[in-house]
Amino acid sequence: MERPCLYIVIPCYNEEQVLPITCGMFLEKLNSLAAAGKISEDSRILFVNDGSKDGTWEIICRLAAEDPHYIGISQSRNRGHQNAVLAGLMEAKDRCDITISIDCDGQDDINAMDEMVDAYLDGCEIVYGVRSRRDTDTFFKRFTAQGFYKLMNWMGAEVVYNHADYRLISSRALQELAEFKEVNIFLRGMVPLVGFKSTSVYYERHERMAGESHYPLRKMLSLAFDGITSLSVRPIRLITGLGLVIAVLSFIGVIWAVVSGLMGNTVTGWASTVCIVCLMGGIQLLCLGVIGEYIGKIYLETKARPRYIISDRTWE
Ligand code: UDP
Ligand code: MG
Repeated sequence: MERPCLYIVIPCYNEEQVLPITCGMFLEKLNSLAAAGKISEDSRILFVNDGSKDGTWEIICRLAAEDPHYIGISQSRNRGHQNAVLAGLMEAKDRCDITISIDCDGQDDINAMDEMVDAYLDGCEIVYGVRSRRDTDTFFKRFTAQGFYKLMNWMGAEVVYNHADYRLISSRALQELAEFKEVNIFLRGMVPLVGFKSTSVYYERHERMAGESHYPLRKMLSLAFDGITSLSVRPIRLITGLGLVIAVLSFIGVIWAVVSGLMGNTVTGWASTVCIVCLMGGIQLLCLGVIGEYIGKIYLETKARPRYIISDRTWE
């Protein structure tokens, strides 16, 4: 079997502090994999600049001029991590045999790539990088992140536990992923839907080498909500269930009201009326909001706007 060509896809947003530190590590890894005869010499490190406002793109261009193994594309504006990864994967899918997507901050252990490539050579089309521990994350990040996976699965969006976007995908699987035309993209949920033989490799997650996380709690919550509503209709089912329960309770309430009315206990009942009105109003608004979220998604999907726009490439 011929040695596969590997593209390492790395999204970068305002990473001028960390990129000069980590770029050398990626190149070293690529060279050592090639030296071990696992990948071809044509393999590349593909940076995706996600509309950074600092000097990230200049750094990428400089790297590309220094070493032909570094190449880069730039999105026309900031579109977020998921779109940046997708842009990189779609750019790579016709040029290589396998891609590995990884963050540029050095948090994910690049040594897991050896095992990923081995798993591919053993016949797997998709290899998930899974964190074995989270000791280096703060308690808060760990707690919220674990809650994230639990919530996702409970809501019917299947995701691989403790797996972020560090994974190997073969170009064959990418050709199929390209057929998933949705504009609300949540790769962690979409990739398992592609299927094919897959496996996981375990690694330890480090601390960020420099710079700041772009995923504060607010963004993490919105990613979770986005993931759930993109992958599952469970929330709508829960609303139906809630509606049933309330209907049954109301029915009991009606009987109770009629009976006590007949027995002559004409209670003024101001408090209970107000409570019920408030509760019902709140629940209805909440349910409308969730349903509205789905309608919003349908609205965005019908527009079918491009999922990414590439403005520059280092090789053109
Ligand atoms: N990123 C991106 N676009 C964004 C935000 C982040 O391409 O709008 C990239 C970022 O450069 C990094 C990766 O996504 O390579 C993960 O971001 P970060 O490390 O801030 O997230 P965390 O690891 O804290 O979850
Ligand atoms: Mg990070």
